[in-house]
Amino acid sequence: MYNHASSTGSAFPAVEFDAEIIGKLSQSGPRYTSYPTADRFQPEFGYGQFLEAVAGLRMRRSSRPLSLYIHIPFCDTVCYYCGCNKIVTKDHSKAATYLDYLKQEIDMQGRLFAGMGKLEQLHFGGGTPTYLSDRQMGDLMAHLHASFDFAPDQQGEYSIEIDPRTVSVERVHSLRKQGFNRISLGVQDFDPDVQKAVNRIQPEAETRAVIDAARDAGFRSISIDLIYGLPKQSMTSMEQTLDKVIAANPDRIALYNYAHLPHLFKPQRRISEDDLPTPAVKLDLLALCIRRLCAAGYVYIGMDHFAKPDDELAVAQRQGRLQRNFQGYSTRAESELISCGVSAISAVGATYSQNEKTLEGYYEKLDEGRLPVVRGIKLENDDLLRRILIQKLMCNFELSIGSIEQSFPIRFSEYFATELQKLKAFEEDGLLIVEPDWITVTPKGRLLIRNICMVFDRYLSQPRLGEAQPLRYSKTI
Ligand code: SF4
Repeated sequence: MYNHASSTGSAFPAVEFDAEIIGKLSQSGPRYTSYPTADRFQPEFGYGQFLEAVAGLRMRRSSRPLSLYIHIPFCDTVCYYCGCNKIVTKDHSKAATYLDYLKQEIDMQGRLFAGMGKLEQLHFGGGTPTYLSDRQMGDLMAHLHASFDFAPDQQGEYSIEIDPRTVSVERVHSLRKQGFNRISLGVQDFDPDVQKAVNRIQPEAETRAVIDAARDAGFRSISIDLIYGLPKQSMTSMEQTLDKVIAANPDRIALYNYAHLPHLFKPQRRISEDDLPTPAVKLDLLALCIRRLCAAGYVYIGMDHFAKPDDELAVAQRQGRLQRNFQGYSTRAESELISCGVSAISAVGATYSQNEKTLEGYYEKLDEGRLPVVRGIKLENDDLLRRILIQKLMCNFELSIGSIEQSFPIRFSEYFATELQKLKAFEEDGLLIVEPDWITVTPKGRLLIRNICMVFDRYLSQPRLGEAQPLRYSKTI
């Protein structure tokens, strides 16, 4: 009988690196920040359907907490590896226009959700949220506080992604005063040659000064983003970067896999393919990162995340409370996610909805006096079932079949007969164990969790017309 981490509250989930299995199974696949994934959203779902979803919540007198995502799309310069939806410009007046419209959207959403749950989570992402000036940020935060009922600082998780190249020590203190209590810093790699190859020159001293300032200012959690697979990276350079990261002692580390997809992301065409590590070296880099971070005391949370054992993420995982949303892993209970800004995705009730992707379209919809929702999806019962199942596997590496049968009127073994059959191959490779009441992902299977979840994704067997399936997603490892 396997020892179920979340049911006993005992073992820390561990991870085991098996190059042979990873090499055999690595393929393109979704990251499951949502299910169904965003490429399944439909243009028939618009503003009207979003309003219906909110009305449904009101009718059910929902008091689920609210989570708010604010998208600031601007960046001063482009990092060549970037695959984000951003606008690179040095013309900061564009941000002022954007803020005018963003505030209109925030007002509308604030009125729609008035009197519903408290706001317990706020996340600023981009682009570069700190592209906004200190004054603009203060003004925007005041606007948000006037539109939503924020939970007290101790109870809420208020985070911002910052680019250390754009903030001073004073600015970090100011962000804390403006209400943020978590911070995540893009670092990617400390090596000067790698930084040059990706057009992101960020001296180590500058990053360390920001981290020290965040600690002094009283941020509750400091997170660092790294990327493996970048041009000019080698085992030696990565060793040195990891030494520096571990010395900086962040609470969380996100380690992303660089997906070189120059046909999809134009800036990546400026990366010379000759400078990229070979697939074999890339796997060695990943193995090195996992080994070093685990040896330094970090817990492998899942996908690309590591945290200190006493960080809320690791605690929530041990207690089976971990969630997965568009910002990655989260400790918050199920909440309604309202997202404001160009291209932002909301998750309200049993729906997902996405805003206009271009600034022009976004402004145009708001000028018409309506929310800029242009696509989305209303989840059917089967979607809701599979979403919970994928969430549980992603967050806890195990699934209680009994708890699924209690929540949904199905007999698991019959409903998922095909999927259970497909899982047999993973079981033979030692990636998971299927028992009558549990599906448990082994330490060896944890790095391949996306592959395991893909078995339960019914949309993957329905390719969209005219789309080359393997090109839409990044590699699972
Ligand atoms: S990686 Fe971040 S800072 Fe760099 S271009 Fe992309 S969004 Fe902007």
